[in-house]
Amino acid sequence: MTVRVRFAPSPTGHLHIGGVRTALFNFLYARHTGGRLILRLEDTDVDRNVPGAEQAFVEAFKWLGLTWDEGFDIGGPYGPYRCSERLPIYRAYAEELMASGRAYACFCAQGGAHEERPDEDEDDGPRAGTSGCAGECRAMDPELARKRVKAGEPHAVRFLAPPGPAVVVRDRIRGEIAFEREELRDFVILKRDGMPTYNFQVAIDDHLMAITHVIRGEEHLSNTPRQLLIYEALGFTPPEFAHLPIVLDETRKKLSKRDPNVLPVSAYRELGYLPEAIVNFLALLGWSPGGEEEMFGLDELCARFDLDRVGRAGA
Ligand code: GLU
Repeated sequence: MTVRVRFAPSPTGHLHIGGVRTALFNFLYARHTGGRLILRLEDTDVDRNVPGAEQAFVEAFKWLGLTWDEGFDIGGPYGPYRCSERLPIYRAYAEELMASGRAYACFCAQGGAHEERPDEDEDDGPRAGTSGCAGECRAMDPELARKRVKAGEPHAVRFLAPPGPAVVVRDRIRGEIAFEREELRDFVILKRDGMPTYNFQVAIDDHLMAITHVIRGEEHLSNTPRQLLIYEALGFTPPEFAHLPIVLDETRKKLSKRDPNVLPVSAYRELGYLPEAIVNFLALLGWSPGGEEEMFGLDELCARFDLDRVGRAGA
């Protein structure tokens, strides 16, 4: 089996050191295993896209000496790799889930406009007394719902999270983590504007792009059970997951790409840091080769890197 990993940034802010560390670990794993690295642009949260972010990712990779094999800028056999160019694909899968009774149209005014952002952990399912959906759409006669959809009435699509045993995420770094079903209420997969939510888009794309290992920041761990439910409902086999310890600042706070005090990687370039030094430093944030050695070139890192030596503690 050829290893296929991806770095999948949303162009909603600059690329900071934490993001580069995720990119680097994906790169190292791909090169260590003779696999392929895919660069996917998750640009469906249109309101938050920042102009120029896309180009900045490519420039940062080039500066650091990281190469990739398929991506939004170079194409490849599983493209397009820019999510905004894949909307009909998400729509088709949402329809498949509605047809099989695993999802339903939600006509409520909110319609998921603010739901399911990848880096925010929120409650989003039907509950009485919220402005979202109190459950009436779930209970609607499917024939009536179909008619309203056909008549062009604006709607979101919600995944129907069935009751059942806890969803267990098997993570290469963190082991097994169980998420109770009650935490996974019906969640929006397609917003009223036709855009997929993060959890839906990522599950479909990781499957269609034949990703074998999802290596990403730990902030996404709580999203993974929802993605697993989508895999299950569509009959997909999940990839292997490896959630990396979070990169913290000096006050032990998570770095945010929308925080103006967190430097973009391009700033280190302007300050005169050498790319080799950044790579060396980031490789050792959360990964340890064992032994006393502290200086490694990129080739040596590629030769030695392994997910089994990634730690769990915040870096
Ligand atoms: N697009 C997500 C982000 O920028 C990453 C998603 C993922 O790796 O699954 O945070």
